Amino acid sequence: MNNSSPQEVWSAVVSELHPEIGEDNVSLWLKPVEPQRIEGNLLHIRVPNKFFIDWIRDNYQRKIESCLKKLLGQDLSLSYAVAKDVQPLLPPSDPIPVALPQSEFTFSELNPRYTFNNFIVGTSNRFANATAEAICKNPGKQFNPFFLYGGVGLGKTHLMHAIGQGIRKKNSRARVLYITAEQFVNEYIDSIRYEKPDAFRSKYRNLDCLLIDDIQFLIAKGRSEEEFFHTYNALFDSHKQIIISSDRAPKEMSLEQRLVSRLEWGVVADIKPPDLETRIAILRKKAESEQILVPDDVILFVATAIKTNIRELEGALVRLQALAAVTGVHLTVDVAKETLKDTISADSHSPVRLETIQKLIAEKYSLDIRELKSKSRTSNVAFPRQVAMYLACHLTELSTTAIGQAFGGRDHSTVTHARDKIADLLEKDFLFVEQISKLTDQIKAVDNS
Ligand code: ADP
Ligand code: MG
Repeated sequence: MNNSSPQEVWSAVVSELHPEIGEDNVSLWLKPVEPQRIEGNLLHIRVPNKFFIDWIRDNYQRKIESCLKKLLGQDLSLSYAVAKDVQPLLPPSDPIPVALPQSEFTFSELNPRYTFNNFIVGTSNRFANATAEAICKNPGKQFNPFFLYGGVGLGKTHLMHAIGQGIRKKNSRARVLYITAEQFVNEYIDSIRYEKPDAFRSKYRNLDCLLIDDIQFLIAKGRSEEEFFHTYNALFDSHKQIIISSDRAPKEMSLEQRLVSRLEWGVVADIKPPDLETRIAILRKKAESEQILVPDDVILFVATAIKTNIRELEGALVRLQALAAVTGVHLTVDVAKETLKDTISADSHSPVRLETIQKLIAEKYSLDIRELKSKSRTSNVAFPRQVAMYLACHLTELSTTAIGQAFGGRDHSTVTHARDKIADLLEKDFLFVEQISKLTDQIKAVDNS
């Protein structure tokens, strides 16, 4: 292998890693790499953009280097360069031909609030966000089509608008269309009704970027699905960017097989419900941008209570803000609990039992439940007790008085003190946040099963 060209070395590396990292990752990350030359102990490679450098470095560099060692028997490190001469973002587009009856069709506006800047990135959406950003740099190229899926209120529409705006920012002449699958179907039906199928076709087939939201709406829509298939092919064949969102993975959609397999040609990314850290960051950002003053423990409470839907998370904050504005009441965890009762019970099912909290805390800290209820103040008992009280405040509907009773007849002020102390700690220590969040999930799992 030692006398091979850099290209041959690179393809050997790629074939070697293929079984381990899979076809998707190979075509996504390794195929676009151009090996340049081997010089000293460096293999110089050229990647499409800076994002590739970060991604390869974080995920594949070690594997690649040990592979090189195996193939060449020498230590080689990667050296990166970003391709400067990549193709221009989009071929400059001519304005839409005047003959096209534009006004009869919907050109949905992109929401200026749905930008990358306003999009908080966490583990639940990192890949989707990174791909979205990469697409803006180089639409119609490696990441085509981009299929984005996930549950309600997790940011699919937000990301699509962000991509649309990102592409327009790079190239103000790019013809970008965001549309929901429902609008697409309605327009298609109208175009047949008013006998203008050609206008419909030329509108869609002359785009540079089509963003089509909630494509699950096409399921069982016969001719519209067929029309979408042709639109898709026309755009794809002329290297135009296609971005599709759905509430489920391509395979789970009962669309025609030939369409499903095309949807999987490019990159498929899912968005999962955000973890606690991300939920907190989203609430902080939202509070900041709306200039709402919300104490940290209230943010933490809302973020712990509402898990599965970012729209509801934001809605909760807005309701609290409205309440504070109208009544002048000071926002506290208790106020939040009361105000958001309905949302919270819808999101996190039924409240849990205090006994479950005591049992799990005792197990976690290797104590006897009786110790939690005892008068003991040694710290190995007092601290777990405070954690249990904190959780009882947040996860049950009991008053602080009742909670105090359940912990060996303590006063309600002991409970509020414990609650505030733990909330304080949570502010400072993210590992502790993780622990508490795990415990919360375990407790809920016991009581909601
Ligand atoms: P979906 O289309 O997946 O149902 P949306 O894109 O409509 O969800 O998102 C719902 C709300 O949550 C929007 O107001 C959006 O701005 C907000 N949102 C979603 N994800 C994030 C995020 N990661 N950071 C900030 N706001 C978000
Ligand atoms: Mg949506």
